[in-house]
Amino acid sequence: MKLTDSVSILPFVGPNYEGKLARLDVLTIEDLLLHIPNRYLDFSKVTDISNVKIGEIITIVGNISSLKNQITKSGKRMQIGQVEDSTGKITIAWFNQPFLIYTIPAGTKIAVSGEASWFAGKPAFFSPQFEKIEEGKDTLHTGRLVGIYSETAGLSSKWLKSRIKYTLDNIENNLDEFLPKEIIKKYLLVDYKKAIFDIHFPETVNSYVKAKERLAFNELLNLQLEAKRRKQILQKKKTNKLTVDKKEVDDFIKNLPFKLTNSQTKVVDEILTDLTNDIPMNRLLQGDVGSGKTVVSAIAALVTILNGLQVVLMAPTQILANQHYETINSLFNNLKIRIALITGTKIKKDIGRVDIFIGTHALLTKTKLFEKLGLIVIDEQHKFGVKQTEILTKSSKNKSPHILTMTATPIPRTIALNMLSDMDLSTLNEIPIGRIPIKTWLVPNEKRKNAYDWIGSQIKEFGSQAFVVCPLVEDSEKETMKDVKAVKSTFIELEHIFSKFKLGLLHGKLKESEKNKILDDFKKKKLNILVTTPVVEVGIDVPNATIMLIEASDRFGLAQLHQLRGRVGRGDKQSYCLLFTENESERVSQRLTALTTTSSGFELAELDLSLRGPGEVLGIKQHGFGNLKIASWSDTKLIRISSEVANKLI
Ligand code: ADP
Ligand code: MG
Repeated sequence: MKLTDSVSILPFVGPNYEGKLARLDVLTIEDLLLHIPNRYLDFSKVTDISNVKIGEIITIVGNISSLKNQITKSGKRMQIGQVEDSTGKITIAWFNQPFLIYTIPAGTKIAVSGEASWFAGKPAFFSPQFEKIEEGKDTLHTGRLVGIYSETAGLSSKWLKSRIKYTLDNIENNLDEFLPKEIIKKYLLVDYKKAIFDIHFPETVNSYVKAKERLAFNELLNLQLEAKRRKQILQKKKTNKLTVDKKEVDDFIKNLPFKLTNSQTKVVDEILTDLTNDIPMNRLLQGDVGSGKTVVSAIAALVTILNGLQVVLMAPTQILANQHYETINSLFNNLKIRIALITGTKIKKDIGRVDIFIGTHALLTKTKLFEKLGLIVIDEQHKFGVKQTEILTKSSKNKSPHILTMTATPIPRTIALNMLSDMDLSTLNEIPIGRIPIKTWLVPNEKRKNAYDWIGSQIKEFGSQAFVVCPLVEDSEKETMKDVKAVKSTFIELEHIFSKFKLGLLHGKLKESEKNKILDDFKKKKLNILVTTPVVEVGIDVPNATIMLIEASDRFGLAQLHQLRGRVGRGDKQSYCLLFTENESERVSQRLTALTTTSSGFELAELDLSLRGPGEVLGIKQHGFGNLKIASWSDTKLIRISSEVANKLI
């Protein structure tokens, strides 16, 4: 059996189970072995039946003396019986598993693990873990530390464990150590094969801790090696060495409606230098919300186009792609530059040779249209993966295009340097001058009405516009119909409260044309209030909007709240962010209060790290900056060590 084999080669894994495993992202034998328990139960204490104490978590071993199906008074189907050893008898019971009387009939030797509770005045086990005792076989589910797997896809821990055990018994030498001995010794790592064994079937707490550390190390090491390999490949590639027409660029910058910040000027220099190199640029531009990344990318685009090459600008949402389309159109207003918008399967009109393709991931299916690609710009990179960038890069027939990736997600230095070593980093650490800091208020539930009154008066007196953002009902990436229902009901409520004003409703399930119309109406001030799901999170630019009201703000992470807040405060008027919450816990208020005191995305990211603790580095995990399965982005020590090793190995 090889690590790359499909799980379908395992006994008892037919199309049905294969599908269930696929939902856990388990496709291969290796995926299965790296699908690790999310907690462990300690069933290692084995006792005589006469010594069983209520409330203790223990294991007993004995013979089943009886087991039968029975209907309880409340109509539940129950399997009840007894186990005995030389010291006594104890009741065992399960619910809704009528087949059990056949799988473990009277006479079966069995181990039972769980917490004993009272039943008819005596100790008993309800729904315990159990397994048959067979000569010469170790127990997997009882009498030891037992791994419990997340059971989301309708796969029981017990089933998973038996498939993993079978795999380990048949894996031959495919888990042999691949690291040099000196490295294992120097960093006190556990042997690879032992780590895989121990993570699923640990003998002691220490053994799974060490196993997990080793597997986390492997995961980080692999990512770093991949990044280094990408860099090596990139450095061997030929690209179009561009020339910078200084006069054209200076004229363009002079004609902008604002003066570039020093930070923007510096970053533009870094990028233009890259473009004149003969190896392709691969640069990550990070800059807080509103730091002005778009215009920087427009300058890079201009240089590329002046060299007779094409540009692709990919954004994560239709709304954002549309907005970029408008922004780029107005920035290039006086130049003969042809811009195409591609957000669906159909292309609206044929405009002949295109200079800039702007769009969503729909661009990935339209690579045939690109003739001479010189530059790829990817906005809000956390929503795309390396693979998607590769599809675009490969679409270029001869020479490799330059790549500029932009993100508002602050990436801690250790991660940027080690994990993204194939990219050069530019940072916009300045917000354009003249911006008035946004006032952020935490609004307790009893002040809700006052807040609505205040918003009404702001609209009446100053013609203000407000966003009202509702969270998604469930923690999922995509919007569901439930979310639409929730946002609609808020919308209806608010229509009553703000009956004198015009309200719009925006959510992800609307047709593209409908979304555009609503956003357009909002931009043109035909609407006073826009009620929306977090689809507005990234990038939307409506300078006249000055109020951001966030419902159930405790449901969002700090980085996401910061992104949402960044939707206002873009013009020259005082802007406000109102955080509503019904959750009054200390932790929540500490987190939300942080937003009222700082406006720096970088500070908030650091704070989120300290408040939430390891494993939940916001803005990374939540924004899916490459999701880690076993390691944690906050484990800087392991990141450093694995980076040292990666450098030695490459
Ligand atoms: P982000 O970095 O979040 O993508 P944008 O590129 O959308 O930011 O820019 C935010 C707003 O700031 C836009 O309205 C843009 O026109 C404006 N802007 C960009 N650079 C400057 C500048 N140097 N001075 C003033 N406003 C600027
Ligand atoms: Mg942006």
